[in-house]
Amino acid sequence: MDALTPAVADGAREQVAAEAARRRTFAIIAHPDAGKTTLTEKLLLRGGAIQLAGAVRAKGNARRTRSDWMKIEQDRGISVATSVMTFERDGLVFNLLDTPGHEDFSEDTYRTLTAVDAAVMVLDAAKGIESQTRKLFEVCRLRDIPIITFVNKMDREARDPFELIDEIETTLALDAAPVAWPVGRASEFAGTWDLLEKHFLPVDADDSGAIQLAGLDDPKLDALVGAARAAALREEAALAEAACPEFDLEAFRQGTLTPVFFGSALRDFGIGHLLDGLARYAPPPGARAGDPREVLPAEEKLTGFVFKIQANMDPNHRDRVAFVRLCSGRLVKGMRLKQVRTGKQVPVNAPLFFFAKDRQVAEEAWPGDVVGVANHGTLRIGDTLTEGEQLNFRGVPSFAPEILRHVRLEDPMLAKKLKTALDQLAEEGVVQLFRPLDGSLPVVGVVGQLQLDVLQSRLKVEYGVPAGFQDTIWSMMRWVTSDDRTALDRFAQTNRRDAGEDHDGALVAFFGSDWRRKRAEEEWPMLRFHAVREQH
Ligand code: GDP
Repeated sequence: MDALTPAVADGAREQVAAEAARRRTFAIIAHPDAGKTTLTEKLLLRGGAIQLAGAVRAKGNARRTRSDWMKIEQDRGISVATSVMTFERDGLVFNLLDTPGHEDFSEDTYRTLTAVDAAVMVLDAAKGIESQTRKLFEVCRLRDIPIITFVNKMDREARDPFELIDEIETTLALDAAPVAWPVGRASEFAGTWDLLEKHFLPVDADDSGAIQLAGLDDPKLDALVGAARAAALREEAALAEAACPEFDLEAFRQGTLTPVFFGSALRDFGIGHLLDGLARYAPPPGARAGDPREVLPAEEKLTGFVFKIQANMDPNHRDRVAFVRLCSGRLVKGMRLKQVRTGKQVPVNAPLFFFAKDRQVAEEAWPGDVVGVANHGTLRIGDTLTEGEQLNFRGVPSFAPEILRHVRLEDPMLAKKLKTALDQLAEEGVVQLFRPLDGSLPVVGVVGQLQLDVLQSRLKVEYGVPAGFQDTIWSMMRWVTSDDRTALDRFAQTNRRDAGEDHDGALVAFFGSDWRRKRAEEEWPMLRFHAVREQH
């Protein structure tokens, strides 16, 4: 920095630092039906971002008009799109990046998790960790994202809290520290005891309704919840303190420990406590790894990366909106940013904030915020944007798809159109596209069945290419890398029928079973087979 600028520059830097420090950017991960939508509504209500409970629900009318822009969504009555909701509370700005709650989800769900600094893991108290919870958790673990656990539906029959905590620890290999403890169960559920603050929060009280007691031995507790529940709480709280790990901020921030809250989204209980936890413990935007250097949020120059592209939000305009997570600096309307991959200038004339209510034009945005940038297909997932610096963020991954299909064209005359469409949709990240080395039909890879429906609908509606899908003989794929170029070539030559290239020309191998994958790994020890690939 030269001698003439520091005063002004320091001021700008301080402002960026202060704005970054008051941001909490997070996602909710949950198995379908655990209560993610209900919790989202309640969180937004607390933050004053929406007026009516129910507005977030995909079936609700308020939401339909805004985000049901795609035919598939109208047909199914669900929201495929990942949206961003912003609300303020006690001077903090919360950016909640929504992930589709449907059983089938796309890579968007995964990629959204690269753009958050923390996650809330919602568990159904009667079910504990379910398959989708575990999958999403594994994605969080790739970046050691700190996770806050919310055990929901405590107003119903629930499993023993000790058993739930034990399940988190054993199935996820994550220490679990209860910070609230449920008092009474199911219809007898009376509220929670705050193990850290030593106060009781009755189930029908609002956030400020906590009752401070001298401790668990305070006789007032018996009067409040009855002797039986008080006795049970005393015993359980003592056991929890003795047997469970203590909350440790450092371990939480490193992603090795999760604080556990208990509550009920439906009954609007425990939400304030959870929000306090997010405000207090969840980290503001931090340093982000990049090539050739790490970027700090307080830097004055703007940086960000694209983690999601949404096309045709408005069917009348063939526009695409790139969701950009800001990592440093300040974004103002009218800025021109450099797309590092191509060196092109991208004008940001009308950046969009995605509030729960509406799309709104933002005046400025800060590290941790997500903005939508309209463009005509220039921006791609994984793109880094800067004010001119040659820098690339790492870590917007592709995941090995679990469903591989050949695309079957109904009208062979449309082959060329199909190729263009598939190329564009692959660029957008709607599907992954592979070209087998032996020249056979292209293969599309998706994470969930819904993604295939989306692909089919978009091919037809947007490109006028009716197409179907045909099974392949494969059930999984891996990216193949090696420092040994000859071994890589030899592998490609020997496996021409079961190998291909992805959209960026990287070598991939297809397998008919997990057993075959393992065999290949044994046979080719000099090669590495990856289930995740980072994009640049
Ligand atoms: P999502 O699929 O994770 O988004 O789950 P939803 O929020 O749609 O909730 C699934 C079902 O569980 C709905 O019928 C909700 O009303 C219900 N539910 C959500 N939270 C609670 C809760 O705390 N208690 C009870 N009893 N039901 C709940």
